[in-house]
Amino acid sequence: MDNSKAKGLLFLVSAPSGAGKSSLVHDLITKDPKVHLSISYTTREVRPGEQNGVDYHFISQEDFEERKKNHEFLEWAFVHGNYYGTSRLWIEQELAAGYDVMLEIDWQGALQVKKIFPEVISTFILPPSIEALKQRLVGRGTDAPEVIARRLKGAGAEIVHAPQFDYVIINNDFNQASCELQSIIRAARLRYECQARREQALFASLGVPA
Ligand code: GDP
Ligand code: ADP
Ligand code: 5GP
Repeated sequence: MDNSKAKGLLFLVSAPSGAGKSSLVHDLITKDPKVHLSISYTTREVRPGEQNGVDYHFISQEDFEERKKNHEFLEWAFVHGNYYGTSRLWIEQELAAGYDVMLEIDWQGALQVKKIFPEVISTFILPPSIEALKQRLVGRGTDAPEVIARRLKGAGAEIVHAPQFDYVIINNDFNQASCELQSIIRAARLRYECQARREQALFASLGVPA
């Protein structure tokens, strides 16, 4: 990926299934429209209420393989029995246009992105307990019992990677967790090099050394 053209910031969140990452990210993008959410490609079945092109680009395994072969994915992973991948071209275009981009991907994808794009700002979302995670997956009502069982079984394997992320949010009280995610975005935008790039003219007029 050509990182030199990136004017926006790249963020990613990972979490065990049911920890609340989709809810938190959707809340973030309604409050902060400058953050654009990457819509992944996946081979998993569409859940009730999900829309193609909105929640995911739902594609067949053959289509996924073809795109993989053509290097269309910035990263891809096999998660809970399905393939998931992030569009390289879309991310490059959004960042070059100056938008901040959020990826909602699993830990395997997060590590791949960190290698390609070391400036990425990563956040891991933890549930307040395993019991709460189970209740949320059941309460969401979108997955069959065997799917829930597989996701709960996989939670530990995802959680052990939390130390490899820059930030951690414990999603107990939703509003607090939502404010915390917004704080991470805001703090990143206020970093010196980011401000200096955005406010070049002001910095020059004030005599801030380049
Ligand atoms: P959720 O865990 O309930 O949000 O269930 P999903 O089926 O939406 O996502 C399953 C897993 O795939 C999660 O760990 C996501 O973070 C991950 N995932 C989604 N999109 C991508 C992607 O583009 N790349 C990678 N590597 N992982 C993804
Ligand atoms: P993920 O994307 O990580 O799989 P979701 O965002 O789909 O998780 O959240 C799983 C379920 O938990 C949803 O039904 C959501 O409404 C609920 N949920 C999310 N955050 C909280 C919270 N802080 N307290 C209670 N329920 C929550
Ligand atoms: P779900 O099927 O519940 O939407 O997602 C299951 C898991 O796949 C979640 O942990 C989610 O973050 C992850 N996931 C979704 N899209 C991608 C993607 O493009 N790449 C990777 N690596 N993981 C993804």
